Amino acid sequence: MKSLTFRHGVYPPHGKQYTENKPIERLKPKEILVFPMLQNAGATCEPLVKKGDKVLVGQKIGDSKKFISSPIHSSVSGVVKDVTPMLHPNGMKVMSVVIENDGAFEQGTTLLPHEKYDSLSREEIINIIHEAGIVGMGGAGFPTHVKLSPPADKKIDTIIINGAECEPYLTSDHRVMLEKTDRVVEGLKIILHLFPGAKGYIGIENNKPDAIEAMEKAVENEPNIEVKALKTKYPQGGERLLVYAITGKEVPSGGLPCDIGCIVQNIDTVVAIERAVIKGRPLMRRIVTVSGGAIKEPKNFNVRIGTSTRELIEAAGGFTKEPVKIISGGPMMGISLYTLDVPVVKGTSAILCLTEEEAKLEKERNCIRCGKCVEACPMNLLPCTLNSFVLRDDFESFEKYHGMDCIECGSCSFVCPSNRYLVQSFRTGKCTVLSNRKK
Ligand code: SF4
Ligand code: SF4
Repeated sequence: MKSLTFRHGVYPPHGKQYTENKPIERLKPKEILVFPMLQNAGATCEPLVKKGDKVLVGQKIGDSKKFISSPIHSSVSGVVKDVTPMLHPNGMKVMSVVIENDGAFEQGTTLLPHEKYDSLSREEIINIIHEAGIVGMGGAGFPTHVKLSPPADKKIDTIIINGAECEPYLTSDHRVMLEKTDRVVEGLKIILHLFPGAKGYIGIENNKPDAIEAMEKAVENEPNIEVKALKTKYPQGGERLLVYAITGKEVPSGGLPCDIGCIVQNIDTVVAIERAVIKGRPLMRRIVTVSGGAIKEPKNFNVRIGTSTRELIEAAGGFTKEPVKIISGGPMMGISLYTLDVPVVKGTSAILCLTEEEAKLEKERNCIRCGKCVEACPMNLLPCTLNSFVLRDDFESFEKYHGMDCIECGSCSFVCPSNRYLVQSFRTGKCTVLSNRKK
């Protein structure tokens, strides 16, 4: 099978050998779980419970009236110990519900299961996905009910399931495709039911031949679904690049995949859709890869949302040596953690504990105008030039030179011989432009 791809990109060492053959293990959380009221792109939730309240598994504990938001559910039964600002993986303190787990996992009333969803209307399915608190689980956390509700003038003809998992070390999607193959297909069929006439694709990098084989077998009687092998290249799983690799169509600058008839969903998100619609279960768990050279027994865990990162590290045997860097997510796009006392949230795809050799912690030096960042950029930007605009506070030029199209993939930083802090400066540039626009 021909492997599809995009232009430019980079080839970081993949580091997946630590966990790609490790079956997913269920992790039972200990006493205390923390549920930050910010687990999605968009509006923050308001807590629906107070200190001393008894909560059940699946009970809604946070919600917002805003459309671009997603409710939060308790993943354990127990008592609300506090409702107070707590440290979020993003480094900020965020209003959180702290629950003392009673270990009974007493089930609350959740959503209605629908073994047969064919008779459900589009609005009913979207409502289930909304009520189940499902967000994009690749890390972005965009509410799924919003993504599946494009403007009426956007005709959706292509649904792409992102099985690229191009970030080094991460193997959670890989394991889901091997272990929950039929559920991925069922979740995709539910989405296709929302867009009659659309075709479904599952894009998988060719460094996962067993996942390609398993998914191909699972869809052999599904004429409307095709598996596409993708070249192993970073950032193959970037939404726009995946759309280009599979359809040959480019998402316009400043636009969205729905502008060219496409919707992209992550593997674990699709399984969450299947679980919500068919089993009536809200989003309370996710698969997390715990890996890196400083971890004793790297593993893939099925983790209840709210579990402490410290518990994950302990369950993976602890450290072999002190990590120099701990990351929530992948090494290219993840967030550095400064403490292990932060919870797993809906967007936590991995916890990576890197050694000095892996972390590349060098000081920034002057740009030598080598152009390697330009060659690497999948968005055809000029990273060195954009960097100089940000350093000069020239955000008008940053915008004019398409800085807002940066997908923050980190490819330019990865290849830069001067270790310029490129992607960090683009995040600053994009935030400043957005806040200037609001003014
Ligand atoms: S400029 Fe942005 S999109 Fe281009 S390589 Fe750098 S981080 Fe990626
Ligand atoms: S890769 Fe680094 S040193 Fe080379 S042009 Fe880009 S910013 Fe400058």
